Amino acid sequence: MTPNSQKLNYYQAFLSRNPEYEGVFYVGVKTTKKFCRVTCPKRKPRFENCEFFESIEDATAALYKPCKYCCPIRTFSGPMDLVEAIIQKVDEDLEKEWVEIDFYELKTTSDIVRRQFKKRFGMTFVEYVKARKLGAMVEKLISSKTLKDAQGSIEYKSSNPLTDLIRGKLGLEPTLLKPKRVLHESWIRTRFGAMLAISNDKAIVFLGFIDRKDLELEIERIRLGMKAIIIPGVTKPMELLQKELDDYFKGSLKTFTTPINVTGSKLQKKIWNEVHKIPYGKITTYLEIANSIGKSKAVRAIASLIGKNPISIIVPCHRVVNSNGSLGGYNSGVVRKQRLLSLEKRSEGYFEGNGRVKDY
Ligand SMILES: [Zn+2]
Repeated sequence: MTPNSQKLNYYQAFLSRNPEYEGVFYVGVKTTKKFCRVTCPKRKPRFENCEFFESIEDATAALYKPCKYCCPIRTFSGPMDLVEAIIQKVDEDLEKEWVEIDFYELKTTSDIVRRQFKKRFGMTFVEYVKARKLGAMVEKLISSKTLKDAQGSIEYKSSNPLTDLIRGKLGLEPTLLKPKRVLHESWIRTRFGAMLAISNDKAIVFLGFIDRKDLELEIERIRLGMKAIIIPGVTKPMELLQKELDDYFKGSLKTFTTPINVTGSKLQKKIWNEVHKIPYGKITTYLEIANSIGKSKAVRAIASLIGKNPISIIVPCHRVVNSNGSLGGYNSGVVRKQRLLSLEKRSEGYFEGNGRVKDY
């Protein structure tokens, strides 16, 4: 049974469509016998018409059917469905000229889509479509082996086929871009919400929840720091990462083998390296991390740098808490931090009371 205070807490999250609670609970609507995820875009029912379940199985067992608007049996979050649908449409026809009516048919507007893409990818929808076209062309070039090193460090001279392609077909000015590398970005779906991964063909350089507060800034930092253009696409490390994240969220994976490449200043790397050493299921404090790099006086600054960790989960900044035992912050919401720690604790075999796992 969900206690009343928890129900009110859940209802509040349901009203505000708080993505941090994605997968924490589902809402059965007594009047329609449908159940929804927390981020359902539909008008919210009254509190007394809601029943709360902590798993899809529980909701189904109580004879609720999945709501067709938020598709709770799929593993990604509501607002993402729109962007996801549009990405699919873009991929179906890369040459398509998008006009307002196309957005209208998807029950949205170009304005909303532009802002959603800006938030998720750090680029507008128009830029995304251009980048996706570029991605498709680069893939084609690579597979035809005329540009074997497209993923490495290409010199963007005027004779370069990629430069011509950027300028000619996409109407972008390569001198403005001056990229040295091509990175790929893709979504990874997890039980705790969708994540954005950025990688080259060797290693993951970024992994974060898509509602992470500093997502845009981080993408920009990576883009500038690595002098890269970032285009949609899936790489080998991402495929491995998806598999390992699935296992991690099931509780069956404790150590990641997906290669990562952490970029940042010397100090940042030093800190994140320390964080990376914290074993699965264990926690440490901001102070201990600060001590370990000989900067015990700068705990707050260190804590804030830990929060900017570019590779969530694998570099487990969720395992760093305050010295007084309180959780401290998390760039993707404290609720998620708590859930990640519970997940790891549960998989380590610590059970509460009668063996039933407590998520809070
Ligand atoms: Zn719904």
